[in-house]
Amino acid sequence: METYNKLIAKQKAFFLTNQTKNLPFRLNALRTLKSAIQSHEKELLHALQSDLNKSEFEAYSTEIGVVLKEISFIMDHLRLWTKPKKVKTPLTHIGSKSYIYAEPYGVALIISPWNYPFQLALAPLIGAIAAGNCAIIKPSELTPHTANAIEKIIQSTFPEEHVSVVKGGVETSTALLQEDVDYIFFTGSVPVGKIIMEAAAKKLTPITLELGGKSPCIVHDDAKIELAAKRIAWGKYINAGQTCIAPDYLYVHKNIKETFLKHLAKATRELYGDNPLKNESFTRIVNENHFKRLSGFLNNGKVYAGGKTDQATNMIEPTILTDISWADSVMQDEIFGPILPVIEYTNISEVIEGIRKQPHPLALYIFSESLALQQDIVNTLPFGGGCINDTVFHFASPYLPFGGVKTSGIGSYHGKGSFDAFSHKKSILKQTTLFDIPVRYPNVKNGLKKIKILLR
Ligand code: NAD
Repeated sequence: METYNKLIAKQKAFFLTNQTKNLPFRLNALRTLKSAIQSHEKELLHALQSDLNKSEFEAYSTEIGVVLKEISFIMDHLRLWTKPKKVKTPLTHIGSKSYIYAEPYGVALIISPWNYPFQLALAPLIGAIAAGNCAIIKPSELTPHTANAIEKIIQSTFPEEHVSVVKGGVETSTALLQEDVDYIFFTGSVPVGKIIMEAAAKKLTPITLELGGKSPCIVHDDAKIELAAKRIAWGKYINAGQTCIAPDYLYVHKNIKETFLKHLAKATRELYGDNPLKNESFTRIVNENHFKRLSGFLNNGKVYAGGKTDQATNMIEPTILTDISWADSVMQDEIFGPILPVIEYTNISEVIEGIRKQPHPLALYIFSESLALQQDIVNTLPFGGGCINDTVFHFASPYLPFGGVKTSGIGSYHGKGSFDAFSHKKSILKQTTLFDIPVRYPNVKNGLKKIKILLR
């Protein structure tokens, strides 16, 4: 197994020069990264098309554009975020002042998945650089064209002691995890997340885990049906359902099920046409293994719409399955493909009970006009984040930290959240030397009495 200790030692040595902590250095690194991405735009679009058949629109709106916007947002705020933050000091600490310093960890290891192979490697990197770290990216081996493009961009922008790309699969990841890095940021599946956490635990390395799971979407009987159908079709079938926060399955109220399904099928046709398998803008399944895994779900329940596949191109039509129960194979694990099972309900308590039995989802969506129901769902069920009357869109706001909870992840990022994820909060108390309040010392007369008054 190859080792990466030389690379990591080089990055650690560079980090110790303190250059990465300098604000103009960080801003310049982000600026250079932005212009390198812009000048490699065509190459990136081509890579994403080769790896996943992503259309130019999807590739730009969900990968390249999102990353450029994130750089701009972070650059606009970085000066403020990097300033030591003065906070209040309690009466017990009279004479002193309190500050929080955001300190970079050092060398950050970023391991990323294949579904948004550019965005999910670069967005954490932006946070790592902004916070003043060195970084190593290990992109997914399943999207090799994008991994090559990322490597080219990084090599043309940064010296390897600052940011570096290490390409490879499980072996490479495993070898990197054996090294002593200062932070691990992992995006990927729940089973691999557990492996990462175990490796991190051996060295007590701090981590962010951005994982997955089955994200429910509830359509209540008072929802604006046509709009709900349109927004669900978009969020589910974008990237052919290979989105960590895509609605995994639907809970639809019995009273509106038939009408809603008609609108959902119509909205899907409007997005991808009558023959999505021939639509050049429809993303394909990443490889044959996933294609076969997903095709196996098509005999679950009844196919309401879609259902066709093309093995030669690894494409699967946007599909709606009805007559589904929790016993079906499609309901056992995250689907991660363009198949949408529908479960019918009559009372919202069935929904809450059903979701509660599952691991905490990464996202949850509720379509309803009732404020009380919206609040009830948000307050009752644990999940990473989500939308009321929309799907997926919360991901794209730099003001909303994005992440899971428990099985769907640990920690969060995006916008200030990314800066925070890659920064240790170093708390500093600056004490006066002009006087010394004696009350803390055990030899003070009536010391205990005074302490009891102060610590009430
Ligand atoms: P994955 O877990 O198989 O792989 C992710 C990364 O881990 C890859 O770089 C891979 O090389 C590496 N890896 C794989 N096996 C490993 C092992 N045994 N030891 C060490 N490293 C290993 O995930 P994937 O298939 O690339 O991506 C799909 C999953 O990622 C889905 O579960 C999805 O929900 C999740 N995901 C989550 C988010 C999020 O932001 N929360 C975003 C995208 C995808």
